[in-house]
Amino acid sequence: MTQTRTIFDRILEGEIPCHRVYEDEHVLAFLDIGPLSEGHTLVIPKERKAFLHELSDESAAAIGRVLPRLARAVIQATGATAYNILQNNGAEAHQAVFHVHFHIIPKRGERGLGVGWRPG
Ligand code: 5GP
Repeated sequence: MTQTRTIFDRILEGEIPCHRVYEDEHVLAFLDIGPLSEGHTLVIPKERKAFLHELSDESAAAIGRVLPRLARAVIQATGATAYNILQNNGAEAHQAVFHVHFHIIPKRGERGLGVGWRPG
């Protein structure tokens, strides 16, 4: 897919603000502007790719290394008893921002219904 500049590029370049929770050479994590629950965090590679299957091994490894740590941090910070990791690829899969991102969505005191955090 031809890469266009997304809102996450603007965040990476410091053009628009975000609430940053983690950053290293390959990865940035920040709070979602429209949280599905308190502490909803987005984890993105700095590499500009729209879909997971396009990601380089280096970025994939970097995300894989930090995702469990960030999930742990989100649990500790929010007191969550459960969480979803969500990763959408393609408009039909409800991807709105075409820069790879993982959602960490903490859950507390609520019972989920299958994978139905979003309709469709
Ligand atoms: P998607 O549906 O593509 O998986 O999710 C995109 C997510 O990016 C949404 O949850 C949305 O709230 C979040 N988002 C969109 N624009 C911004 C922004 O400017 N800042 C932040 N922090 N999150 C954003």
